[in-house]
Amino acid sequence: MSGINDSPLIFERNTENPAAGEAPPSTLSEELYRARPVDLPDLPEPRVVRHYHRLSRESFGTDTGPYLLGSCTMKYNPRLSEQLAALPGYTETHPRQPAGQKRGWLEMLGELHDRLARLNGLPAVSLLPAAGAHGEWVALRTIGDYFRDQGEQRTEVIVPDSAHGTNPASAAVAGFDVVEVDSNERGRVDLDDLRATCNSQTAALMLTNPNTLGLFEEDILEIADIVHSAGARLYYDGANLNPLAGRLPPGDMGFDVVHLNLHKTFGTPHGGGGPGAGPVAFSEELAPYRPLPRLTKREGEWMLGEEAEKSIGRIRSFAPNLTVLVRALVYLQRMGEEGVAQAARDSVLTANYLANRLPAEFQPVYPLPCKHEFVVSCADLPVDASDVAKRLIDFEIHPPTVYFPLVVEEALMIEPTESLSLRELDRVVEAFQQILEEAKEDPDQFKNYPETTRISRPDETTAARRPVLNHPVET
Ligand SMILES: *Cc1c(COP(=O)(O)O)cnc(C)c1O
Repeated sequence: MSGINDSPLIFERNTENPAAGEAPPSTLSEELYRARPVDLPDLPEPRVVRHYHRLSRESFGTDTGPYLLGSCTMKYNPRLSEQLAALPGYTETHPRQPAGQKRGWLEMLGELHDRLARLNGLPAVSLLPAAGAHGEWVALRTIGDYFRDQGEQRTEVIVPDSAHGTNPASAAVAGFDVVEVDSNERGRVDLDDLRATCNSQTAALMLTNPNTLGLFEEDILEIADIVHSAGARLYYDGANLNPLAGRLPPGDMGFDVVHLNLHKTFGTPHGGGGPGAGPVAFSEELAPYRPLPRLTKREGEWMLGEEAEKSIGRIRSFAPNLTVLVRALVYLQRMGEEGVAQAARDSVLTANYLANRLPAEFQPVYPLPCKHEFVVSCADLPVDASDVAKRLIDFEIHPPTVYFPLVVEEALMIEPTESLSLRELDRVVEAFQQILEEAKEDPDQFKNYPETTRISRPDETTAARRPVLNHPVET
């Protein structure tokens, strides 16, 4: 560890060669410098500790208990990843440092690039996008520019009716018209409808596999064939990669471009809107369009290249979210390729175990087996899906995703992940059993749940849009 610690650190301006990717001299004028020290609150240590300790008890994380939030893959965040990402060689580095000082982290990024490329079965990866949705937009921009270069006018992107909301949103922001394709009675893409929807206007089909119902699209090769025959490209929403990671590269299923959510599949924190990472993997054909700067290997050394010929250009501030990427690499190295595949298999096992053990009223709407998650409907219960969700909080269980996917009425989308032990899974089963009995006995009581939290039912929109985050001032 001290090796990284001792390496020449930050903010050392290279005065001999201030050009070529290095920090320009500061242009801040004198009057903008702070004249007096900033007026920070001076609080006694015990009060600060109590404040943060109280906050930690008021929130719920994967360290607290089962976190069933479907589609989000709330798996354990390994402490080793946290420790290594906190090394000053990563936290105190600056992307404009001279190349000679950032060999270590370029090497790290290069290894992550290669591992993710292999996992996807695709040759090139951009580590830049800051979230899954950002990756979706980047990928669609590259597809758009590719067709423009081919002289083709393709203005439509197809998404299934079960798709995550970011899919149509990203397509619209990237300038495409969104067209929906139906699901069939088995919860999969309706091939006839897809054939009827794909045409010379189609730029891409966006698909996640397994889909948002947790079901594997068994016709994926035929889907790829339909899409490619229409001249369009196939996009993989990697949010549901967890059950397939290390087992089935999306490239082998016929996908041309893929986004990954490192905070889902690779155990990096989801963190309250904080930095994330949604790397995108590209086929040979789309790779020339990927954003800048690019990781390239020259004479055995990784560097950030700016060759821009066909690139969609810059998509954010210059560097990727480095410490998130470090965590993902630690996860991949620690698990190894076989470990990643085993975690994927275990995520399928836990989901099927849980689905099989839940009471009949909570059976999945589509027949098992599922992959890493499943969707149940509360439509026939005396209480709403949100009531069941709120009551689970009193059992120290984070609720499933509610009212998604939209194709299921009163949906609960349950994803236990491989991180849950058998004992915890059984505790979840018992909670659902008890909640079912309560719902039959006294449904009205559910409007008072949760009853064990300081705030019971906040106005969720206001809480998200206008949060009050300041430290409570004590007198
Ligand atoms: C989470 C998710 C996304 C978006 O990813 P973010 O990283 O939250 O932007 C897209 N599709 C599906 C299916 C998801 O679950």
